[in-house]
Amino acid sequence: MDTLGRMDRTGAARDAAVKIVQVLHDHGHTAYLNGGCVRDTLLGIEPKDYDVATDARPDVVRRLFDNTQYVGESFGVVLVRLNHVSIEVATFRIEWGYQDGRRPTQVQFSDAEHDALRRDFTINALFEDPLATSEADRIIDYVDGRADLEAGLIRAVGDPDQRFGEDYLRMLRAVRFAAWLGFKIEKRTARAIRNHAHQLGRISPERIGQEVAAMLTPAPPARPATAIRLMQRLRLDSAVLNEDHAAVKIPTTAALRAKRGNPISYATVLAAWMLDRHVFHDEKADTAAVERFVEGPMPAVVRRWRRSLCLSNDDRDALRAILTHLPRALAWSSQGVALRKRLLATPCWPQVFALLCAERHRPGVTALAGRIDREAKALFAEGVAPPPLANGDDLIAMGHKPGPEFRRLLDAVYDAQLEGRIRSRQDALRWLQQAK
Ligand code: ATP
Ligand code: MG
Repeated sequence: MDTLGRMDRTGAARDAAVKIVQVLHDHGHTAYLNGGCVRDTLLGIEPKDYDVATDARPDVVRRLFDNTQYVGESFGVVLVRLNHVSIEVATFRIEWGYQDGRRPTQVQFSDAEHDALRRDFTINALFEDPLATSEADRIIDYVDGRADLEAGLIRAVGDPDQRFGEDYLRMLRAVRFAAWLGFKIEKRTARAIRNHAHQLGRISPERIGQEVAAMLTPAPPARPATAIRLMQRLRLDSAVLNEDHAAVKIPTTAALRAKRGNPISYATVLAAWMLDRHVFHDEKADTAAVERFVEGPMPAVVRRWRRSLCLSNDDRDALRAILTHLPRALAWSSQGVALRKRLLATPCWPQVFALLCAERHRPGVTALAGRIDREAKALFAEGVAPPPLANGDDLIAMGHKPGPEFRRLLDAVYDAQLEGRIRSRQDALRWLQQAK
């Protein structure tokens, strides 16, 4: 969506949220904007959505608005639809009875201050009163969140050891917010994460995978390399990937850059991280190491990462394809035109090329990337995937039976076409006749 469209939408969302606060207020209730939207507004970032918190009970919220729906009845969350926008309205609450670091089993309605104290980080525990008559009253801060926002700190609300022990997922949320906002994780909070890191593996791969995908999705302002460094430094890598902790350098991931309108995909970030963790451990390692990895341990590592991060089939296939094609790109100089065109025609080529460029700290890679870039332009101009001049029907008409030989002949005649040795259908048929 264009920027203007998005601004209209968030403008409408804010208007709807403020209207809800107004209605609740007119009926004698306390109601504030809360969570991410307060944090983002104070930072000058456009909020993704607006949430309202109130002392009105869910049944009261439902009575006050026409178009409502429970979304988390046990948590007291009601979705209010107003002016074509949906706003979550949550009743102030406290939560307890966390079992095995997952979700609370007990919820009790409370006031704003206690609601702030149940939240994960101080910067996420601020309230905004949009009806305040003075700027001084606008932000309600029970946890010194504003100071942390200004200092760029992610700090757990309350005792960090207790808070991470209640809900292990908060450890990954700390990394996601730190990486996304470019904040530091406060010392005691970081120490508590290190202490609890090994417990992260007890929560489901779905929940881990969702957080990791959110922090490694490379659209700005996300910083995937920062998130990975933090996970490794805080020892979360082991539980996230279900493999030994390794605080390795990540030069490949750090050098990933989008090329000409091709955004870097999640699978590409994972491919880069995998190379950094499993292939190159020093800056001078030769690029042949990639081939050894792809032909050796790669399938097992991809399977493990797929399970640990609950990757979709599409992401798993993309990850495998990118890694499989990378050695072919590295071997560009020794390949003929047909192989080069086949490589350029694979759907994952832009991602493979971005990954290759990110290997620029290896000897010879920058020069190679420059050469590929120039030569690929010429090959694309000729067409890298022309329709085949001859196909299986032609071979059948010549009396061939489908089988391995059949495939080999079709590949060979297509290679000849890609290399320009065959330029017409007659040429192709003649070539097949002679090959018989
Ligand atoms: P984002 O912009 O990524 O949505 P957010 O801060 O809005 O960030 P949400 O996951 O939408 O994050 O949660 C809304 C609010 O609920 C948070 O700001 C935080 O106050 C609270 N919260 C969410 N998850 C937890 C958790 N696991 N533990 C404690 N509080 C949480
Ligand atoms: Mg949110």
